[in-house]
Amino acid sequence: MTCKACEIHVTEALEKVKLENIDVDYQSGESMFEIPEGIEEKSIYAALESTPYKFVEVNELPEKKELSNKPLDNDNYDFDILLIGSGSAAFSAAIKATEYGARIGMIERGVIGGTCVNIGCVPSKALLKAGEINKSAVQNPFAGLHTSANQPDMTELVQQKDQLVNKLRREKYVDLISAYDIELIKGEARFINENEIEVDGKTYKSKRFLIATGASPFVPSIKGLDKVDYLTSTSLLDLKEIPKRLTVLGSGFIAMELGFLFNNLGSKVTLIQRSERLLKTYDPEISLSAEHALSEQGITFIKGVQYDGIEQSDDIKKVFITVNGQREVVESDELLVATGRKANTEMLNLKAAHVEVGLRGEVKTDAYCQTSNPRIYAAGDVTDGPQYVYVAAYEGGVAIDNAIGNKKKEINLSAVPSVIFTSPSIASVGLTERQAIEKGYEAKTSILHLDAVPRALVNFNTYGVIKLVADSRSQKILGVHMVSDQAGEVIYAATLAVKYGLTITDLTDSMAPYLTMAEGLKLAALTFDKDVSKLSCCAN
Ligand SMILES: Cc1cc2nc3c(=O)[nH]c(=O)nc-3n(C[C@H](O)[C@H](O)[C@H](O)COP(=O)(O)OP(=O)(O)OC[C@H]3O[C@@H](n4cnc5c(N)ncnc54)[C@H](O)[C@@H]3O)c2cc1C
Repeated sequence: MTCKACEIHVTEALEKVKLENIDVDYQSGESMFEIPEGIEEKSIYAALESTPYKFVEVNELPEKKELSNKPLDNDNYDFDILLIGSGSAAFSAAIKATEYGARIGMIERGVIGGTCVNIGCVPSKALLKAGEINKSAVQNPFAGLHTSANQPDMTELVQQKDQLVNKLRREKYVDLISAYDIELIKGEARFINENEIEVDGKTYKSKRFLIATGASPFVPSIKGLDKVDYLTSTSLLDLKEIPKRLTVLGSGFIAMELGFLFNNLGSKVTLIQRSERLLKTYDPEISLSAEHALSEQGITFIKGVQYDGIEQSDDIKKVFITVNGQREVVESDELLVATGRKANTEMLNLKAAHVEVGLRGEVKTDAYCQTSNPRIYAAGDVTDGPQYVYVAAYEGGVAIDNAIGNKKKEINLSAVPSVIFTSPSIASVGLTERQAIEKGYEAKTSILHLDAVPRALVNFNTYGVIKLVADSRSQKILGVHMVSDQAGEVIYAATLAVKYGLTITDLTDSMAPYLTMAEGLKLAALTFDKDVSKLSCCAN
């Protein structure tokens, strides 16, 4: 399945067999449904075979039980809620759970704080800033500024980054354990049954559980990859030397940011991807603009590849690929595998707890963050949602409101901003043009190139574009997508516009500070009706 229309075709075929609670998702390629009594399985297979899609695997799921509100006897349980993991989802959940006066346990098999503070957002953004400063010292757009830079010292940079990580881990995570009276259990969690978990031979019983075990780098099956010394995002951020040449497998936000970082530090970087288009889920204008801007800075993108194999001779890694029917080999000193992340569920023995997982091991949750077992919730990267720390924290809070507060709160992921911290940065919120059309909106768009934005002109850096998607009928802003300096800062205003249904006029009628990149948002809104290149300064 490739789009919403495919979902509709499959749903219609399943409806004909009179199946119930049909839920088809083209992105995961999965269909779930209940089979009422009297319906034969072969009629379902026949219905699916009548569609142009192939089904690969059939799984029988445990029967979903009704959520029981029956109070559980306190004496029999060690905790009201036992959190598995100590990342952002778990900590947000713990803090919320204290508001309900709950007895909280938290299990962690590794370093407290999880991905974001230890090996993700914090270390990567600290080094990205250093890389940007280094690059702007080597190359700047201003006449008369004769700057230069020495070879960066990675040992010092990594040391400083580690100090920051240690400080933030202590202040934002470790110190909170005693402040919020959380019982920390060190070790790997494994369900024994739906009420009990075992950690290092000890058993803990809890009324409710939250699975917040995050995700780890996914390593694709490419011939020879298991025999070469490759890096993941974690080991790359600890490199003590800058590789002369770095090949990155993948092109998601982590691949792009880390490739960009090492390009700024002086490596010759090549990003290789299977899809034909960079950032294939983004609007095409955004993909093109981002690729153009980053290629201009020296990054090589190789798209639409088929991997033939990977080898290492001495320290040189060789990636054999076929592109447009031509065989090629890309050689480099270091190889980064950044081809996505997979949920950390293998060790949890979720079967024993009747918790259902998807094809990639992700925990399946409903709108209440509840799993197929009503007493067990899940939040963050371990589920199928967008893998950002603010999503993890938000879901952790909602899960507790439901698990302990019994609030029946639904998660709303309709306005999740995303930022890729390259320069220019790439930011997006809401629907792309294609998604808006698929959802039945009468979509109209405005496209503003950065050479019409005063802040970009005075920066002498006009690479980039802002694209707005709006509904012609209601005039509401449905999506904002941009490639620009400071896009990550601007996207918060855009998130409010999308989330609260602001119209084009709401944006054009509001003042935007002159010579900020955020003014680009207003100018892009004006572009729906006007040619902004014909406006005076401080456009109105
Ligand atoms: C390089 C990189 C850069 C990133 N940059 C950003 C960014 O700029 N902005 C952003 O929003 N997001 C960013 N992210 C994503 C962000 O870090 C994650 O979305 C977020 O940290 C997920 O939080 P979590 O609580 O779901 O899981 P995690 O933080 O991964 O926590 C899960 C914890 O569970 C533990 N665990 C796993 N299994 C078990 C078990 N069986 N028993 C006990 N403990 C277990 C793990 O050890 C881990 O500590 C980045 C990620 C990476 C890798």
